[in-house]
Amino acid sequence: MRTPKQLGAHAEAMLAELAAFSDGDNGLTRLYLSPAHRRAADHVAGWMRAAGLETAVDPLGTVRGRWKPERKRRLLIGSHIDTVVDAGRYDGMLGVVAGILAVEEIAARGLALPFGIDVLAFGDEEGVRFPTTLVSSAALAGCLVPSDLDTRDAEGVSLREALVAFGGDPEAAASAAYGRDEAVAYLEVHIEQGPVLEAEGLPLGVVTSIAGQSRFNITVTGEAGHAGTVPMALRRDALAASAEMMLAIEDVARRGAAHQMVATVGRIAARPGAVNVIPAEVAFTLDIRADADAPRHAAIAELEARLLTIATGRKVSARMEKFFESPTTPCAARLQEAFAAALGDLGLGQRRLASGAGHDGHAMHHLTDVGMLFVRCRGGISHNPAEFAAVDDMGLAVEALVGAAVRLAADAASSGDRT
Ligand SMILES: [Zn+2]
Repeated sequence: MRTPKQLGAHAEAMLAELAAFSDGDNGLTRLYLSPAHRRAADHVAGWMRAAGLETAVDPLGTVRGRWKPERKRRLLIGSHIDTVVDAGRYDGMLGVVAGILAVEEIAARGLALPFGIDVLAFGDEEGVRFPTTLVSSAALAGCLVPSDLDTRDAEGVSLREALVAFGGDPEAAASAAYGRDEAVAYLEVHIEQGPVLEAEGLPLGVVTSIAGQSRFNITVTGEAGHAGTVPMALRRDALAASAEMMLAIEDVARRGAAHQMVATVGRIAARPGAVNVIPAEVAFTLDIRADADAPRHAAIAELEARLLTIATGRKVSARMEKFFESPTTPCAARLQEAFAAALGDLGLGQRRLASGAGHDGHAMHHLTDVGMLFVRCRGGISHNPAEFAAVDDMGLAVEALVGAAVRLAADAASSGDRT
């Protein structure tokens, strides 16, 4: 039995090993089905075997390590081992490492659980290489869209071809799915990727939901004119109107703070784009997220009305077109309680917060209940080589994972759920 500090030190060492598998020489870049992903998957499989898990790579490239493989009911614990370009070493990988360490501890402590555990290392969470994402977890959850296998990367390689080169088997994709009666729940440990836990001095937090999101293209059309001759009162300036709209977007999001609402205008283009011409047309994007679908939809409806009012007042037209929508994934109350109880046992605060970022749990929700635990990360920084989580915090996360599994075992026993 290891102390949290020892577990954290183990996690740190494993993450350092994994960070060596990169597709480039500079920094860490490990895209789905790349040579570095293959080497990382093999390395993770080696850890799983050393931990006594029956290990295999599934048709979509997910590494699966099975503890007590003879048991039908399985607690699923996982995260992803692909990265963004020039990534940090914690995002995703910590959840896989924490899962392996937690199973080792459960075995070493002789904890009696009524279910087996599968540790899962997904390959396609970041969605960098192909114009799709979560195919590896979607296959497990039985919600893979077959046409996603025909999407292509920037080099023209199809996902199907890349899978074959990796050693996967696109023809067997359907066989990757778990049966609904097999899964007890899906648990994931992940760095927060935001600054909330650090600001509140808390090492860990219980995730309430994975935020839903909507994305829009907004086009504002006015009229071009001479920057020197058209008086201010007679202008139909598409960019000035857009600026006012962006402040309205910011205002709506700020007033949604109780629902962790955030709205971002991340891209903007003005035409004709000359220093001495009044902008005739502006296109910008909107990404809006919240911890539940209803407040996000209400905010969008309010924004549509306010943008229209601003456009009318400024004699321009505005068009708002949705191009992406992802519903909120709620974290199951029983899993939030299991994590919260584990944090209580460790003498920690039980802060609950939504995840603004997407995760594999979004796909796993189609199969079973999802629970997530956030780990404080320095400065809230992620998708960046400066990403950092402390040894002590990671050790506590492994303990909390063990504690949550024990709590679920007790729940299963009291409800007569035996395998
Ligand atoms: Zn991640």
